[in-house]
Amino acid sequence: MAMKTIRYELAEGIATLTFDEPGSPVNTMCAQWQEDLTAAVQQVVQDKDAIRGVVLASAKSTFFAGADLKGTMRLKPEDAPQVFREIEQTKKNFRTLETLGKPVVACLNGAALGGGWEVALAAHHRVAVDNPKIQLGLPEITLGLIPGASGITKMTRLLGLLGAQPYILESKLFSPREALELGLVHELVPDAAALRQSALAWIAANPQAQQPWDAKDYRMPGGTPSNPKIAGMLAVAPAALKQKTRGLYPAPEYALACMVEGAQVDFDTALRIESRYLAKLIVSPVAKNMINTFFFNMNAIKAGQSRPKWDGRYKPQKVGILGAGMMGGGIAYAQASRGIATVLKDVSQDKAEAGKAYSAKITQSRIEKGRMSPLEQQALLARITPTESVKDLQGCELIIEAVFENRELKAKVTKEAEAMLAPGGFFASNTSTLPITGLAKASARPEKFVGIHFFSPVDKMKLVEIIRGQATDDETVARAYDYVQALGKIPIVVNDARGFFTSRVFGTFVMEGAAMVGEGIPAPVVEQAGLQAGMPVGPLAVLDETALSLSVHVLDQTRADARAEGQTYIATPGELLVERMVKEFDRNGRAAGGGFYEYPQEKGAKKFLWPKLKELFEQLGVEWNLQDLKDRLLYRQAIETARCLAEGVLTSVHDANIGSIFGIGFPGWTGGAMQFIYGTGIDAFLHRAEVLASKYGPGFVVAPQVKDAIRRFEPKY
Ligand code: NAD
Repeated sequence: MAMKTIRYELAEGIATLTFDEPGSPVNTMCAQWQEDLTAAVQQVVQDKDAIRGVVLASAKSTFFAGADLKGTMRLKPEDAPQVFREIEQTKKNFRTLETLGKPVVACLNGAALGGGWEVALAAHHRVAVDNPKIQLGLPEITLGLIPGASGITKMTRLLGLLGAQPYILESKLFSPREALELGLVHELVPDAAALRQSALAWIAANPQAQQPWDAKDYRMPGGTPSNPKIAGMLAVAPAALKQKTRGLYPAPEYALACMVEGAQVDFDTALRIESRYLAKLIVSPVAKNMINTFFFNMNAIKAGQSRPKWDGRYKPQKVGILGAGMMGGGIAYAQASRGIATVLKDVSQDKAEAGKAYSAKITQSRIEKGRMSPLEQQALLARITPTESVKDLQGCELIIEAVFENRELKAKVTKEAEAMLAPGGFFASNTSTLPITGLAKASARPEKFVGIHFFSPVDKMKLVEIIRGQATDDETVARAYDYVQALGKIPIVVNDARGFFTSRVFGTFVMEGAAMVGEGIPAPVVEQAGLQAGMPVGPLAVLDETALSLSVHVLDQTRADARAEGQTYIATPGELLVERMVKEFDRNGRAAGGGFYEYPQEKGAKKFLWPKLKELFEQLGVEWNLQDLKDRLLYRQAIETARCLAEGVLTSVHDANIGSIFGIGFPGWTGGAMQFIYGTGIDAFLHRAEVLASKYGPGFVVAPQVKDAIRRFEPKY
């Protein structure tokens, strides 16, 4: 029996299973490992009489990374029964170890996530290195899966139906120390070298070990579903969860069902229930969409796949910001919280101070929540120097302008501030609408000018869109990428074009919603369609937030630019509707008092749709069906994203997917705007788009070169 991923050694009565997947930086539950585990466990059983205890260990820097997700991506629906058999076999192996009558210890030298934590749960005793950076737990739900290799069953039995929920349904991870407090890890050691000795000592002291759930007097912590308190919770939990998932994410629903059903039966039956749910889920499209994007695409971004080759690595030390308004104040906080010295300049000292006050406000609320100490707050605030003098920017490696959205003003501040940059420094604009190539013309060194587009509110929004102007050089894009990563945010890289990528696609979503209103569809139905498709907010509410007047301003600008080039811009039906809202009815958006919604001032009062909408636009008897409306809102965005790929505004699918989810709230269940196409199936998507185009106009036409791009960029697993 030749094992490839597990080394089996028997010495001095201790059987050691060392996980060491060849050619991989981490251990995974690949097909070979599953086979090897069966062989290793058989060997343990054979050697039983010579064994005093079993040690599970890793030869990698982490303990075990979990499922083999590449393999998962290749599964087809008809593979579900095979998957079921494989999971059951793995669990059988775990059970054999647990019930062998010999103590089994897991030595956690590093992260044990997902399937990796489930391997650890097969041991009677878990020893971990006391390092707060080590992550343990079950992140499956975030990838559209469930911890179905006994994680749900065991965590529920260890922590109870209430206690286990955050760690199963919300994928809350824990450090070794937190695990110790929860009783999930039994012993901490200072470093990996000390693991084995502790394991051996425990084995010596516990010649016969048993899992808690196998003990005769086992009771589920907090009680079983027959306990009235638990029963009360369980009666409402599925509905509450459904409200959160809107029925679009099967994984948390399956996991909850698994916890509850499993809690009412014996341990082995519970394991089987779990296998059934997992086998069904793992071959489902939503799981694949989410693994594709939240695992593979996210890793591509972390690894810098869109970062141009540049040998250096930019570590921001001192960065200046022009404009201490909403965005500038937010960027200052993001920088200072990551240890970057920040010069925050506005037209007056007062305004600059007001921008800094935003950081004081956020840190204060962090202190109140126990997430920050006053000392840390002091240090953070000390890193922000508010000023009205451009001279204070002297020596910044990077200066980002976030002044009003006005070309002339931006040109003026660029010229002024650029002269203050440290040698080799670069300049960035946070503009949300003005093409970077044009803005770079004000710069003496347009190759060192780049777009760094943050989203609002900066402290919450993780995405940052980096825009490469025509003249921007590779080094500057790479430095911008490093800067964004240094802030702990997610960079995507796009080429310059009107609206870049995110604003352009976002525009199609809100304008499709506005177009529906113009067609006479009731506004509440339009909003519902957005929510039911999985968008975080309905299109009309978003238009109000971003200001209808801003959309009209952009439209006017687009028309003027087209005229300057001797062309005529033809506004879309949605744009025309928004223009009427602003110019005819003076409905400018939330900040201006109201738009599609009214915003009553009384405390606690909720916004409601502007009653006159009904009278103005709603046409009785207009035909609509919700599926069409939902599809329109998603298809329109996906097609625009594919256009961005075809035109070279986007150069990768991972930027498209991650950018659409984290920048504009494209629903996570789809895996992002391009994965929505691939998950639907290219042919099925194109067919549906044709139907939509025949009913709802040219926005849904997929041009031949766009079809080519869709096929060319399809990911292969
Ligand atoms: P804002 O009005 O809140 O702030 C602009 C600030 O710039 C003001 O404090 C103003 O006093 C200051 N300013 C004006 N002239 C200046 C000068 N010469 N030197 C220094 N400061 C000067 O605007 P905002 O919402 O923070 O937007 C700023 C930029 O960020 C715009 O280009 C906007 O398009 C872009 N942006 C905004 C958002 C958003 O959601 N608000 C999102 C992404 C990008």
